[in-house]
Amino acid sequence: MSEMLKGKRGLIMGVANERSIAWGIAKAMAEAGAELAFTYQGEAFGKRLEPLAQSVGSDFMVDVDVTDDASLDAAFDQLGARWSTIDFVVHAIAFSDKSELTGRFLNTSRENFKNSMDISAYSFIEVARRAHPLMVENGGTLLTLTYMGSNRVTPNYNVMGVAKAALESATRYLANDLGPEGIRVNAISPGPMKTLAGAAIGGARKTYKHTDMNAPLRSNATLEAVGGTAVYLASDAGACTTGEIIRVDGGFHVLGMPQAEHL
Ligand code: NAD
Repeated sequence: MSEMLKGKRGLIMGVANERSIAWGIAKAMAEAGAELAFTYQGEAFGKRLEPLAQSVGSDFMVDVDVTDDASLDAAFDQLGARWSTIDFVVHAIAFSDKSELTGRFLNTSRENFKNSMDISAYSFIEVARRAHPLMVENGGTLLTLTYMGSNRVTPNYNVMGVAKAALESATRYLANDLGPEGIRVNAISPGPMKTLAGAAIGGARKTYKHTDMNAPLRSNATLEAVGGTAVYLASDAGACTTGEIIRVDGGFHVLGMPQAEHL
């Protein structure tokens, strides 16, 4: 992986702590030679991010709430002022009211539906619109994070499954819009991971264990594996891949039912 991203620079959105998928990606990208900038959500996450960003040689951190257009504008203005061009953006952001990530999907409220869609799906479009002018010279890569609950019913994932379906569809539409500019748009779909957002989903520990026991590789996704996939997609090695959903789930998505020993 070393040097695969040498000379490239980009923005990582969504590091909450060292367990965040965005952090796994940031570390792998930095190890591959990329220069990084970060966004964080609010002061408390900013404090957590600071030493992590420093550890990969970055002093570029901007506070962004993706529901606030002004904060997105300010972040991309600052990015453009610092670097006239960028090569990638990683969007690793999702949110839903925890009380609706359990029980029946039928009970999804209008307010949480809209908010979950706004933060977890629509924000990727807002990010793409602001990022692409910074990618006009050399093209670039936009990456987002999704989950299999988008097209298979996963207990308790509920409204987040609908938001991920929208996000995956947006990935394909953005890929088509931005392809002529040499910008590739892809989503990585890891299996369940032990993060803040992951823990908010009802029964997270059971889902994690079930995937670990039954996936063909008999393992869950790791931060390193997701990071490696992001490096590949952002590098020239991924030059002809766009509009794609790449699974990093130990192969779990190919199963029709649990392994015989767990039936
Ligand atoms: P995480 O909690 O570490 O990261 C989620 C991030 O979203 C946080 O940094 C949070 O600050 C940010 N965020 C939420 N609302 C925001 C807002 N309004 N404005 C700006 N930022 C906001 O959890 P994670 O698991 O690393 O999640 C990253 C992505 O990976 C999400 O899209 C998630 O759905 C996806 N994903 C997670 C798993 C899993 O099992 N953990 C599996 C597949 C996909």
